[in-house]
Amino acid sequence: MTEITKIGVIGAGQMGAGIAQVCAVAGLDVVLNDVTEERIDHGLATISGNLARLVERKQIDEAAVQTAMSHVGRATAYEEFADCDLVIEAATENESVKQTIFKKASAVLRPGAMLATNTSSISVTRLAASTGRPEQFIGIHFMNPVPRMQLVELIRGIATDETTFTAAKQLIARLGKTAIVSEDFPAFIVNRILLPMINEAIYTLYEGVGSVEAIDTALRLGANHPMGPLQLADFIGLDTVLSIMQILHEGLADSKYRPCPLLVKYVEAGWLGRKTQRGFYDYRSGTPVPTR
Ligand code: NAD
Repeated sequence: MTEITKIGVIGAGQMGAGIAQVCAVAGLDVVLNDVTEERIDHGLATISGNLARLVERKQIDEAAVQTAMSHVGRATAYEEFADCDLVIEAATENESVKQTIFKKASAVLRPGAMLATNTSSISVTRLAASTGRPEQFIGIHFMNPVPRMQLVELIRGIATDETTFTAAKQLIARLGKTAIVSEDFPAFIVNRILLPMINEAIYTLYEGVGSVEAIDTALRLGANHPMGPLQLADFIGLDTVLSIMQILHEGLADSKYRPCPLLVKYVEAGWLGRKTQRGFYDYRSGTPVPTR
């Protein structure tokens, strides 16, 4: 494996944009892909907005922003990935969407180039099977928001080789982040613990034990969590929360992981949290207002 110098990122949503940002700031070349040019532009705008805020807070200077932005480009076609050393998939948490992406990406990547998934919960081994290069495939699970969160989970699939694992570990170190290793089980470590808590908070709301405000205040002030669980669910995206709970429920066949019907209802309504301006809170007026 040669050193990683160019990275492709597939999916320019909150995670893909964040991953592209931290790679570009670390001096790596990045090309960003999504289903439409508008989505790519949206991802690029997120990156420049985030960097502008860092300048305001005097955490970086204008020259560093210019340098970082000069490292980020668009990948409107998969051919742009042909000279990438690594492609990280950060598209919607849907297995068939990801499998289609891996088939297309494997076809253009050079031999030896690595493929990674940022999935929150889907089996890395199962995803690897659709890549045609399971030895060079790995789970690199960044946390949200990527620029601020220190942790990255590394997940080997059954066939992931040592060269790929070492290269991924070195990349995380270069990004200034801390890697931990998780075995390939549903939702890995962080979400295996965090998501059932969020789901339980939604059940607590569903059963009328407390209001949105009471539940979030309870965990913020009663357990010293920086954010309430419903606030956090909105931040993650309720579609992603539901998808992770479904994978835990199916993968571990235990009723304790049953997604709360109220969560299903919010997702069916298209109330996906911050990204759609409405979830357990309504963000449309600027000040979050509880929706229950
Ligand atoms: P998001 O909804 O913000 O972004 C997903 C992006 O993927 C969208 O821009 C969408 O247009 C794009 N997309 C969908 N199909 C695509 C395709 N075929 N090709 C290219 N792009 C495609 O979601 P997100 O929160 O950024 O999550 C992305 C991934 O990261 C998921 O696997 C999720 O589980 C994982 N993840 C999310 C979080 C979180 O807190 N949200 C944390 C860690 C990991």
